[in-house]
Amino acid sequence: MTVSTQSPVALKPVQAGQQTWTVDAVAQLFELPFNDLLYRAQQAHRAQFPTGEIELATLLSIKTGGCPEDCAYCPQAARYHTGVEPEKLVPLEDVIAAAKAAKQNGATRFCMGAAWREPKGRDIAKVEAMVSAVKSLGLETCATLGMLSQAQAQQLKNAGLDYYNHNLDTAPEFYGEIITTRVYQDRLDTLGHVRRAGLKVCCGGIVGMGESRIQRAGLIAQLANLDPYPESVPINHLVQVPGTPLCGTEPLDPLEFVRTIAVARITMPGARVRLSAGRRELGEAVQALCFLAGANSIFYGDKLLTTCNPEAQADRALLAKLGLQPQVGNGVTNCCECRS
Ligand code: SF4
Repeated sequence: MTVSTQSPVALKPVQAGQQTWTVDAVAQLFELPFNDLLYRAQQAHRAQFPTGEIELATLLSIKTGGCPEDCAYCPQAARYHTGVEPEKLVPLEDVIAAAKAAKQNGATRFCMGAAWREPKGRDIAKVEAMVSAVKSLGLETCATLGMLSQAQAQQLKNAGLDYYNHNLDTAPEFYGEIITTRVYQDRLDTLGHVRRAGLKVCCGGIVGMGESRIQRAGLIAQLANLDPYPESVPINHLVQVPGTPLCGTEPLDPLEFVRTIAVARITMPGARVRLSAGRRELGEAVQALCFLAGANSIFYGDKLLTTCNPEAQADRALLAKLGLQPQVGNGVTNCCECRS
């Protein structure tokens, strides 16, 4: 495949004071000697987050499986035989119970994820009730429900939603290899609706899907040039689920994953860069390097939407081993897995 370093998607002008990143400039960061890259990332990280606490995120799947989309990494797509059984929207009382448990376990923000292409009107009304109930517990709220219209984004904002997760997934040039049921511009449109509704943005991608380094640079450039760049940037490491088209993809070198974290930190210095799906496969040593490279948020709990996550106990032990403090207090724990 011929890879252009020019994005086919027009980048919006960035806010005053925010640096514009070309794909080539981001690619040059990837090319730095490993120690130089981590040194620059550490400088950027410490300038923005001098105390260096790690944000802990809790995620609940409120509607699992049966999705009509064809995201090649996703076990929730109805067309792939992955053993994920479609479920209906969970009852409100179950969401409240899960949110209370998450709060008791130290989370201050709670994310609700649904495997939809886009929510229908009746779905939004139910999610609005969930958002209001979770908010009334004193938790910050986040949702990931697929594509949103402007009106839906506003409804969720009015119900008390703080964050919306919607990922770009990969570079525009590679996107068509991964998803064919919606286009890149659909994703940018949803992100625009979310911003205009006054919601904060959680937006990242997945690496290790067979993309090239320049395509990883392309993803980071897209994220960093959003105006403003997302408050939360989940970087997922592909979890190869049997039955999905990407199962069997050549695994990404773990050090390349660390490089991706470092480049995200340098280009989006004030964002929460989150280690999301795939953390279990990375092991403790690579996760420690990711923290050194500027990751300052993790998913916390035993399960993400459908894939396993290191147990909460093991996470606490790892943070303690590294001398890293979990962040506490309202407004500090983030949410959403990078899926919809
Ligand atoms: S990633 Fe989201 S939109 Fe894509 S198939 Fe999975 S649940 Fe559906």
